[in-house]
Amino acid sequence: MSAPFPIRPRLLLGPGPSPVHDRILQAMARPTVGHLDPQFLQVMDDVNARLRQVFSTAHPLTFPVSGTGSAGQEAALANLLEPGDTAIIGINGVFGGRLAEMARRMGAEVVAVEETWGHIIDPTKLVQAHRDHPHARLVAVVHAETSTGVRQPLDELGSYLAGTETLYVVDAVTSLGGIPVEVDAHHIDVCYSGTQKCLGVPPGLSPMTFSPRALERVRSRKHPCQSWYLDASLLADYVGESSERKYHHTAPINMMYALHEGLVMIEEEGLEARYARHAEVGARLQGELEARGFTLFAEEGHRLPELTSAALPGGVAEAPLRKALLERYDIEVGGGLGPAKGRIWRIGLMGAGATHDGVDRLLAAVDDLLD
Ligand SMILES: *Cc1c(COP(=O)(O)O)cnc(C)c1O
Repeated sequence: MSAPFPIRPRLLLGPGPSPVHDRILQAMARPTVGHLDPQFLQVMDDVNARLRQVFSTAHPLTFPVSGTGSAGQEAALANLLEPGDTAIIGINGVFGGRLAEMARRMGAEVVAVEETWGHIIDPTKLVQAHRDHPHARLVAVVHAETSTGVRQPLDELGSYLAGTETLYVVDAVTSLGGIPVEVDAHHIDVCYSGTQKCLGVPPGLSPMTFSPRALERVRSRKHPCQSWYLDASLLADYVGESSERKYHHTAPINMMYALHEGLVMIEEEGLEARYARHAEVGARLQGELEARGFTLFAEEGHRLPELTSAALPGGVAEAPLRKALLERYDIEVGGGLGPAKGRIWRIGLMGAGATHDGVDRLLAAVDDLLD
């Protein structure tokens, strides 16, 4: 038998994946069983119940989509949009841009509400876009824009849209488990996330929730959902808690064990304590970086604790330093994307990575490298 190929462990402080706790890796090594095995269905039901807690929702249709965060993104749009529908999309970074691109591919008319990277999209601009396009099928925004580190406010737009026929879609890929995601309180109709950011689980599943009115919309479509794999009306017959579950596709069994363990760990820590931990280490890192001459990229007052974007001091080129950080210190951070390419680092303190110890290791390495 040949030896397994070697992988050096790294301290993952980039925009994802985040560090995975041993307990979760061990959970993945449990026996693979069938996707309709009653033991597995129990795990799935428990995962769904735990996800409702983390999403702060009572929506019955809450489950992990098989695929990474991008699959959740596609699922949200593909289920709600039909060709010719209008989709209002907030764009202030990469992920808003991707939502727009996906919606266009689905034949929707996209009304883009754009803002400079590093800034929030003023909720009144989104409300105005809806007043200009009152028949829009949906409005979509990114809660935690991982390309910039900006935290988009969700409540005002949610309260406004709740009084209309238009559905509210929120990308919570980098927020779920790190900062509060209040699906019911903010009247969010469809919200999706990813396992490998603040949930601290390997990449592979996209937790997702549909409000009853979103599901009604899915069931009353004129044309079937363009994606068979992501069709929520078909998925509901497998993931829903009915006694007559039907095979749709083979769920990634061992990934579900991992997500289950991650959610158990979240319950043990407590959501509030987990948010406080992310807030505390994020604020500390941001202060320490500014003290070292870094310039924070995201607008003050709207910075994510779990994703810090910052330009290096004195115009130092970021890529060689980032490479040295990985090769010499085994620490991964991300570079900038789009207009911020070559200009910033993106530092993630997510899930098990949101610790003072991680901040200490990073700062010590940065001090060494900038010396
Ligand atoms: C990471 C991310 C995605 C995409 O998730 P993948 O797991 O990489 O497919 C979507 N939206 C946001 C805001 C993200 O940070």
